[in-house]
Amino acid sequence: MKRFLSILLAVTMLLGMTTLAAAEAGTYTGTGKGFAGDGSVEVSVTVDENGVVTDITVTNCTDTPGVCDAAVNTLPALMVELQTANVDVVGGATFTSEGIKEAVLTAVVSAGLDAVSWSTKKEKVVEKGEDVTLTTDVVVIGGGGAGLASAVQANQLGSSVIVLEKMGKVGGNTILAGGALNAVNDRSEQAIQYNDSVEWHYQQTFSGGDYQGDPVLVHTLVSNAWDGVQWLMDLGMEFQDDTAGLFTVTGGLWPRAHKPVEVAGTGFFTTYMNYIDTHEGVEVMLNTCATEILVDESGKAVGVVATGETGNTVTVMASKGVIVATGGFAANVELRTAFNTQWADLGADIKSTNHPGATGDGIKMLQKLGADFVQMGNIQLLPLGDPETGALSGNIEHDVETRIFINKEGNRFTNEGGRRDDMTNALFAQTDSYMWIVMDSDTYPTGDELNNFGETANQLVAAGRAVKADTLEELAVLMNVPAENLIAAVEDFNQYAQGGAKSGEADAFGRTLFSTPIDNGPFYAAARVPTVHHTMGGVRINELCQVLTESGEIIPGLYAAGEVTGGIHGSNRLGGNALTDTVVFGRIAGESAHYEK
Ligand code: ADP
Repeated sequence: MKRFLSILLAVTMLLGMTTLAAAEAGTYTGTGKGFAGDGSVEVSVTVDENGVVTDITVTNCTDTPGVCDAAVNTLPALMVELQTANVDVVGGATFTSEGIKEAVLTAVVSAGLDAVSWSTKKEKVVEKGEDVTLTTDVVVIGGGGAGLASAVQANQLGSSVIVLEKMGKVGGNTILAGGALNAVNDRSEQAIQYNDSVEWHYQQTFSGGDYQGDPVLVHTLVSNAWDGVQWLMDLGMEFQDDTAGLFTVTGGLWPRAHKPVEVAGTGFFTTYMNYIDTHEGVEVMLNTCATEILVDESGKAVGVVATGETGNTVTVMASKGVIVATGGFAANVELRTAFNTQWADLGADIKSTNHPGATGDGIKMLQKLGADFVQMGNIQLLPLGDPETGALSGNIEHDVETRIFINKEGNRFTNEGGRRDDMTNALFAQTDSYMWIVMDSDTYPTGDELNNFGETANQLVAAGRAVKADTLEELAVLMNVPAENLIAAVEDFNQYAQGGAKSGEADAFGRTLFSTPIDNGPFYAAARVPTVHHTMGGVRINELCQVLTESGEIIPGLYAAGEVTGGIHGSNRLGGNALTDTVVFGRIAGESAHYEK
């Protein structure tokens, strides 16, 4: 609200309007600050001769595709209906929503409409609809990566499926991910080229989590990963491997990540929704929040109670089973503070990469049924958060090999190819827990190439989220770090990167992942801070995704997959293993539920 009032003030001052002119029919434009910074949202507003806004169109939005869509698709019509720019933001697309609100307000004020009326908060009065009871074979709670993988898989086998998603869009945290999907095909050229194998993926996942993961689940993850990639490709999903090869994602420890052609995690949802929209017997109900899992007298999970779009009760009875795919709880400060055992403090001062729906709803529902929980204190932080929002977007790195981390003193301070927990701990020890990711033009030959989140380097620079300079000296000035230190750090790094005198050796921080030196200007840097990313603990499952009680008994008809589960990643999840987790265990949950009697 405060931001909205200051925008109103700025807009009216900008337009020099103390008393507003009468509205004139016509089409007006405005811009707003979305996720990608100032001016990232542009709108066109049509006003008729009575001063009524008849149409609002978002003409341009450079915020992450898939993430901003929910706001772009819903807010303009709502604003036309209520004749105000001050409507509720769309959960999961807050910044884009604010950008649209600002852009529309700018446009209507320039049209001479009443700024006060257009900045007055109005809410749509929704009449409560009828309570409904639906029947299906399988009900899935959560329309993120694991939920939709399970829905598609169960439907492919012949089950009818209803997915309940509490937000106004599918995607959860999965759609916000950088898109790295670890999978090894032992018989591929790439496995030979990179000296990789399913066994090495297993070893790194298991040891990278300090041997806390359940070996059976870790084995299930890595040995089904490549099959998951093929399944996605059969569904029409495209990967960049043919042109770009495999890459090492931050904390991934090895080049085994497949990158989708579509940015961030959007490709998964294009693929799943394309299947769901073109097949009978599988449907997603948005804005439908599950509150309770129903069990029959024998203790079998048989349905779900949810609050529907209009506040009505939606009951879904499932003849085969219930799949819980509600994701993690990193956006729930209270829960993450209560469970955290790994970090000094995970209070509200530390931001999160997560969407606002990552509140751990599944935990309460599962607790009531006597489910067991494992390693709830294991919470992953990344050193890669946007300083303002904690989000992953705005991160300029493409892969581990081509970039370094630089602190406020202009020095490197950690092995940037190491474990996520080690790198984040090292960042916490730096001045203001603040660092810059520094790289050169090998990644962005023109600056118009996309990062992993659908933003070009030039857009980030224009929005003030990254800096760019022809020389390291100039870059240091923009970063406000001592130039001599930055230059010395880069020169030392280059000794180890391909072509340098120390090529092939591990550096002083133990880094072994190098490819090219940082010597090709212009150079880029973007600031990053620690951010809460993934809750690795969760409900205990077996390799069939059946939910287990404390005494190890199976709760019949009840399955779980994805971030809501625990015991796979141990104390530290490898980068690139989360998407693999959603695909592999999502599919298994779907298959297991399908075969439940
Ligand atoms: P995963 O990676 O495990 O699939 P995501 O975060 O991608 O996790 O997806 C989890 C999804 O579950 C999100 O879209 C979230 O909004 C949804 N969700 C969480 N709680 C509920 C609930 N109570 N009812 C319906 N959907 C829920």
